[in-house]
Amino acid sequence: AHLDRIAAVDTDVHAFLHVDTDGALATAREVDAARAAGESLPPLAGVPIAIKDILVTEGLPTTAGSRILEGWVPPYDATVTRKIREARMPILGKTNMDEFAMGSSTEHSGYGPTRNPWDLDRIPGGSGGGSAASLAAWEAPLAIGSDTGGSIRQPASVTGTVGVKPTYGGVSRYGAIALASSLDQLGPCARTVEDAAYLHEVMGGHDPMDATSLNEPVPSCVEAARQGREQDLTGVRIGVIKELSGEGYQAGVEQRFEESLEKLKTLGATVVEVSCPSFTYALAAYYLILPSEASSNLAKFDSVRFGMRVEKATIEKTMGATRAEGFGDEVKRRIILGTYALSAGYYDAYYGSAQKVRTLIQRDFAAAFEQADVLVSPTTPTTPFKLGERIDDPLAMYLNDVATIPANLAGIPGMSLPSGTAPEDGLPTGFQILAPAHEDARMYRIGAALE
Ligand code: GLN
Repeated sequence: AHLDRIAAVDTDVHAFLHVDTDGALATAREVDAARAAGESLPPLAGVPIAIKDILVTEGLPTTAGSRILEGWVPPYDATVTRKIREARMPILGKTNMDEFAMGSSTEHSGYGPTRNPWDLDRIPGGSGGGSAASLAAWEAPLAIGSDTGGSIRQPASVTGTVGVKPTYGGVSRYGAIALASSLDQLGPCARTVEDAAYLHEVMGGHDPMDATSLNEPVPSCVEAARQGREQDLTGVRIGVIKELSGEGYQAGVEQRFEESLEKLKTLGATVVEVSCPSFTYALAAYYLILPSEASSNLAKFDSVRFGMRVEKATIEKTMGATRAEGFGDEVKRRIILGTYALSAGYYDAYYGSAQKVRTLIQRDFAAAFEQADVLVSPTTPTTPFKLGERIDDPLAMYLNDVATIPANLAGIPGMSLPSGTAPEDGLPTGFQILAPAHEDARMYRIGAALE
C-alpha cells in the first residue's frame, strides 16, 4: 500500500531520492512467511520505514542530497540501518534532504526540492523535508531523520508530524554522514508520539563504533508514552522559555501554543515562565561552530575516495574542479565561513567565542531545569513559507532555527509535535518540548498527554 501511495503522489511531493520496491517487498514477504511459521518477531517487524539519505545503506545509493555523491553505493550499513534491518522493517527508500543537511527548506538538495503535502507551493522544512513529507503524504508510517540544529523538529512542525532529537549520544552516529559531529543526532519521525517512541527504542543504545555513544540503557519511551495517554500530569512543572516568543513569531503560531499550554494545565501541570538570556546568541554561535566542523568533515570529499570526479591535468586541479562542480552554493558558503572562522588569528575571536556561548547556553538550561521538569516553546516561529521565498536570503533562512538550535548546542533532547493549524493560513504549527539530557522519556509522557 505504501509503495502504491509513493507511485501515486511522489512525482508531486518528491519526498524520495530512491525507492527500493524490490527490497521492501522482499523484507515484507519474509516477515509474512516468518509470522505464518509462528516465529516470534520484533515489535516493528513488517512496518515500512523511509530513511533520510544521510544514513549509509549497504547496496542502496546514498547521496546526502549532494551531486558529489551521485551514484555512490555504500559498501556497509550505518549502525541505525543495521538495527532497522534487524527489526525486520522493510526499507521503502531514501528521502530527500538539503545537501549535507544544510538548510531549513530542502530547497538546497542537489536533486530538486521536496514539496509540503499540505500545500505543494510551500516548503516541507529542512534539512529532513523528505522524511517529514513522506509521513504527511502517507507514503511511509515511520521515517528516520537527523537533527544538527533542528532538521528533525522543524520539518515535523511545518508538516504536522512528530519528530524527536534524542539526547546527544543516545543514538549511534556511525554511518551517518557527518555535518557537525558535536551537534548531529539521528532520531525518529512519525505521525504520533507513541509511534516515535517505538522507533526511538529500535534506534537507540550504546555502540562501540561511535566514540560519543552513551553507555547506558535505551530510555523507556514507549512506557512513558503510554503513561502520558492516561492524561494525568499532576505535579509536572512546565517551563515556558520567555526568549522564544514575541517578535518574529506569527500570531497563529503563538495562539496555538497558548492553547496547548492551557490543555497541559487542565491535565494538572503547572506552568511557569523561565528565562534563558544567552539564547540571544545561540544562532550566531551555531553558525560559527557548525561551519567550522562542517568544513573539516567535508574535506574527505576529495574526488579520490567517493562519488564524483572531474578529471583535470593535476590532482590539485581535479580536487578543485570536483568540489566546484559537486558542491552547491550553501555548502560552499559554509565551507568558506568555517575555514575562515578556524584560520590562524581568527580562531579565538570566532570559534573560541562561540564555544564560550555554548557553555552559557548550557548553564541557562541547567538553571531553567531547576524550575521546571520540561521546557516548551513553539518549534518554529512561522508556518511553512513558499518555495523560493527565502532561498536568496541565508539569514532569513537561518532564523527558522532559533527555537531548535539551543538544544543541539546543549546536547539535550527535543521533540516537536503538532499543535493545530494557524487560523490565518490553515497551515501546521508545532509545539516543542525539551528535557534534560538522558531524560528523553519525559518528553514522550508530556507529548502523548498533549496529543
Ligand atoms: N537548518 C539548520 C541548518 O541549516 C539545521 C540543519 C540540521 O539540523 N541538519 O544548519
